[in-house]
Amino acid sequence: MSDTTHGFDTLQIHAGARPDPATGARQTPIYQTTAYVFRDADHAAALFNLQEVGYIYSRLTNPTVAVLQERIATLEGGVGAVCCSSGHAAQIMALFPLMGPGKNIVASTRLYGGTVTQFSHTIKRFGWECKFVDFDDLDAVKAAIDDNTRAVFGEAIANPGGYIMDVRAIADIADAAEIPLIIDNTTATPYLCRPIELGATLVVHSTTKYLTGNGTVTGGCVVDSGNFDWSANDKFPSLSAPEPAYHGLNFHETFGNLAFTFHGIAIGLRDLGMTMNPQAAHYTLMGTETLSLRMERHVENAVKVANWLEQDDRIEKVTYAGLESSPYFERAKTVCPKGAGALFTISVKGGYEACIKLVNALEIFSHVANLGDTRSLVIHSASTTHRQLSPEQQEAAGAGQNVVRISIGTEDADDLIADLDQALGKASS
Ligand SMILES: *Cc1c(COP(=O)(O)O)cnc(C)c1O
Repeated sequence: MSDTTHGFDTLQIHAGARPDPATGARQTPIYQTTAYVFRDADHAAALFNLQEVGYIYSRLTNPTVAVLQERIATLEGGVGAVCCSSGHAAQIMALFPLMGPGKNIVASTRLYGGTVTQFSHTIKRFGWECKFVDFDDLDAVKAAIDDNTRAVFGEAIANPGGYIMDVRAIADIADAAEIPLIIDNTTATPYLCRPIELGATLVVHSTTKYLTGNGTVTGGCVVDSGNFDWSANDKFPSLSAPEPAYHGLNFHETFGNLAFTFHGIAIGLRDLGMTMNPQAAHYTLMGTETLSLRMERHVENAVKVANWLEQDDRIEKVTYAGLESSPYFERAKTVCPKGAGALFTISVKGGYEACIKLVNALEIFSHVANLGDTRSLVIHSASTTHRQLSPEQQEAAGAGQNVVRISIGTEDADDLIADLDQALGKASS
């Protein structure tokens, strides 16, 4: 659904939506229904055979969710998308068609803590493995890819460390190995970063964060670029060979560059059931309408607050890639030219104790396990989201003991700075 005739601000409001054919309703209705009446028995059979596209049952497809899928696919410049119940569900849904027992992925060490846990432990139950590599060491990435590697995975702007991935360089390595690159674009959003233009095959989102933008619902999405040739080798039989889970259908042959998206719905949602509900899709659709406006303010505020924090002598370090002092400042200009996001960490003098006092003393900032809200949020990662990780993994993920993660909202930057100032006063006393 790549649309090159309209700008981002237009697409974030209109892509996928049209006046409701039944009522003329201008806003996308919440189709709160489980099932859809078949015209007759032949119609039902055609739908189940995937010979006709239509609605059967809301575990697979729902008209409200479909609008969101088309909208996110359009904003990312992909051909299709599948929405899921959470960002973590989206990650499993992205890997599921590619993987099998004994297969592995190569992932960046700098990832959201929950993803490190999912990839280090939980996916082993499926017989999948993950090799974590420093993505700034391109030779190590190449060396980690073996005959059983089925994907490379990284975050464009990593959560929580202010690390910017060289998406193009890693995409070239994945390309040479004939495997897809999956980018988690949650913290950047398609407004700041366009991974498909930089060579990514698939983009995953936690729509829980900036896409919804107001902390109301969890959700996820897998976007397909449509650019990968699943039949170039025999590594992806679920897509390029007869799929036993759908009476021998060959998805690539039948659906061409929509093979991954159709597989995600017909097999992934059908059998794993990680479905987004229409209420959640509604809230996220509301959020997408103002995405660019919010991201501009998020970035503007983050630059102001990070610069203020950097010169404060109660702070040891600020890891924001939008700061000129950041080692990723130059890279950010090519990976996310409209800004380095609004998520960064600070290292607080006084270590663990000072961090605890700081999060307790803040008044405008809320101490929560979320990010990408219009409200400013903080979390002490080492005692919360990254608690399950070893100290080495915490350090590698940028979530050491003295580190507080900050998600800058869209309030007045001066108010945010004043709140940090008073709380740092209490933390250092
Ligand atoms: C939150 C988050 C996830 C997980 O998303 P959920 O919606 O919480 O399941 C994955 N990746 C990143 C970068 C995140 O910030």
